[in-house]
Formats: sequence, structure tokens, C-alpha cells
Amino acid sequence: MWCWVVDYLYVPDGSSAMKQADLRELVCGIVREFTAHPGGETRYRSPIIGFCSADHEKFTRLQENVPEHLTPWELLPGARGLVSYFLPFSEDIVGANARSSLVAREWAVAYVETNRVLSEIGKSLIKVLAEQGIRAVSEAPTYEFDKAQLKARWSHKSIACMTGTGSFGLNSLVITDAGCAGRFGSLIIDVDPGVAASPDSERCLYHHNGTCGLCVQRCPVGALKMDGPFDRKLCYEHLVQADAYFADLPLTDVCGKCAVGLPCSLTNPVGR
Ligand code: SF4
Ligand code: SF4
Repeated sequence: MWCWVVDYLYVPDGSSAMKQADLRELVCGIVREFTAHPGGETRYRSPIIGFCSADHEKFTRLQENVPEHLTPWELLPGARGLVSYFLPFSEDIVGANARSSLVAREWAVAYVETNRVLSEIGKSLIKVLAEQGIRAVSEAPTYEFDKAQLKARWSHKSIACMTGTGSFGLNSLVITDAGCAGRFGSLIIDVDPGVAASPDSERCLYHHNGTCGLCVQRCPVGALKMDGPFDRKLCYEHLVQADAYFADLPLTDVCGKCAVGLPCSLTNPVGR
């Protein structure tokens, strides 16, 4: 098991270069360890990890679309860096949900278990970095969203785009080089990880050349549209209904049909 570190233009910074590289290696090692030995039933492919500086311009642009989104400085005074990690589900889990007429049990279990894994990764990173004199905070993997707007106050997916780990697709998910079927977490740190801005990279076929659109066809409730905004309310109502299928599991408002059985489920279809 290994992880991909997305650091397109690493700029060595004199005496701090080694520290930045060590920091990135440390973070990568912890995420890799949890992904390889997650406990429970869920299995993952190799994680993808990205780093970037926490600069004001990125959040000014984000808040133009989502004014309620927090800045790193509100969560961690003195914030200077962002870390994003993507845990791609195993092909078995993705295939099971693609074949299931409703939501596959494997997908629901993966959702629940990955909430725990992401929380454990966040806690472990905070603890280990603190031992190095680095302050860090990690937002919960889910449920921290405005129930009226149905928008997160801290979007792990948006942080993934900032770090170059992925880019938004027509399915409103973030597509990475390992696809979109998985879960994201992120961390704010008070040091600059020493990675220059990554180039914007399109990974959705529709955004790239106007083709595909399969995710729109797969959505059971018509929440995704070729030429209109994602209907969050319609999607959320469907997710809440799905929770009733799995009475023995903790809250499982899941669906995921827009993440499975698609060209972008397991890989970046534009880069293929
Ligand atoms: S299914 Fe096709 S159109 Fe939809 S997000 Fe994936 S690549 Fe883009
Ligand atoms: S999660 Fe399900 S309901 Fe929501 S957009 Fe995706 S396919 Fe549609």
C-alpha cells in the first residue's frame, strides 16, 4: 500500500525544506497506515493526499459561492497550511453499489466505518503533529452542515480541489486520479507545507469536452442536471429515506449512485 502525494511544484525553502518534506512524509505515513489497517469490513485503495498553503485568495473565491463557509483562520488562528486526504473505496464496494437496485449494504457500511476512520485519522494527525510543535485542527467528516441550506460550513471536497487532489464533476462530487467513489477528510495546520499552487486540472468528461453525462441519468430522483444546479434538497430527501433500509446501522443517509458504475468512479477519465 502506498499513497500519492500531490505536490506539483515543490519549492525547497532553504533550511525549512527538510522540515516541510518531513511533515508531508509524516502525514502521508499516518493516512497510509489507517487506510491499510482500518479495522471493520471496509477496504480502501491507495489514498491520495494533497497539501497547499492556506492563502486568503482561495477562500475569498470560495466564499463568493458559499458565504457561510468558514476560513482556516476561524478554525485555527495562525493557520498557514491545508491538507486533504481521499480514501478511495475498494472496487468490491463500488461494484456492489453499482449492481444493487437500492443502496448496497457494503456501501452503507463503508459510509459508517469511514466516518470513524476519518475521525481517527484526524485525531492521530493532531496528536502526532503536536509532538512536533505543529498545531492542527480537523473538522468532523460529516453532519457539520447547515440543515436549511444543506451546505457544509467546512467542505472537505472544496479543500481537496484547493490542494489539487481533485476537481468537481457534473455529479457534484470531486473526481481524483483514483475516481470519486470514496471519502475526503482535511486538516488545517499552522505551518506552510511548502507546496506551490497546483494547476487546475479538469477530470470530468462533461466539463472537459461536453460528453458523458451518465451520472445525471443514474440519479434516481433527478437531482443532477446537465444544464442546471445540483438540487441538494431533492438529493437529501432521498438520502434520508435510504436511512430506513439499514435499521441496524447508525445514521446511513447514503445513496452514491452518482459515484458508481461511471467512467469517473475509480479513475480520472480525462487523464486515462
Ligand atoms: S459520470 Fe461523466 S459527466 Fe458525470 S461526473 Fe463522471 S465523468 Fe463527469
Ligand atoms: S447521492 Fe443519489 S440522489 Fe443524490 S445526487 Fe447522487 S445519485 Fe442523486
